[in-house]
Amino acid sequence: MTPAYDLVASFQPRSTDTPPALFGVVVDRNFHPDDSQIEREQFAYEVLLNKFDVMLKRRAAAGHANRGLVIHDRRVVAERDIQSWTSEWRKAAGNIGQLMNLADVPLFADSRATRLLQIADIVSYALFRRYAPGAPGRAFMKLWPLFHAEDGAVHGLVHYTPSFGQATCDCEACRGRLIEAGQARFVQPAKRESRLRRRTRGRRTTE
Ligand SMILES: [Zn+2]
Repeated sequence: MTPAYDLVASFQPRSTDTPPALFGVVVDRNFHPDDSQIEREQFAYEVLLNKFDVMLKRRAAAGHANRGLVIHDRRVVAERDIQSWTSEWRKAAGNIGQLMNLADVPLFADSRATRLLQIADIVSYALFRRYAPGAPGRAFMKLWPLFHAEDGAVHGLVHYTPSFGQATCDCEACRGRLIEAGQARFVQPAKRESRLRRRTRGRRTTE
């Protein structure tokens, strides 16, 4: 497995304007433990798609307009669920925000047929190994620089724990989030706080 991680980590894009970017959402089993498995997957998936959508929006604002296409491994949650969730989030904001930059609903393919899905698989496994108790997480550290980041703040990886946002987790994603929150508070406190309040309100409606 290690050579595969080295290949991903050392990939050189033809255009340096469009480097590869990884996205991941890790949900601790104790985060909203009363939610059903499907609700937890739906929440993680919505956050993931929104991170991708926000990247596309920011790139468009910087003069690199592109629509996003999501391609799934067939083994993941039911196709119909995923397509209906995403259709709704494209029409109106869910808990996180409306998806405005996707070209279509997620499409599905066999992971044996496409290298990008195989990469998604090994990225997921690296995240699992990073967050599983007692596991080393060396592969993750090779991939960590590839998670989507802007201006030094990593947006591409989020770790939800029961104390999310309270600075109790020491992982790379949570530390990065603290740095980002600190920068945002310094730049525009009012805007960020109202956004956080809206987000919390939205989340409560699902509880
Ligand atoms: Zn963390």
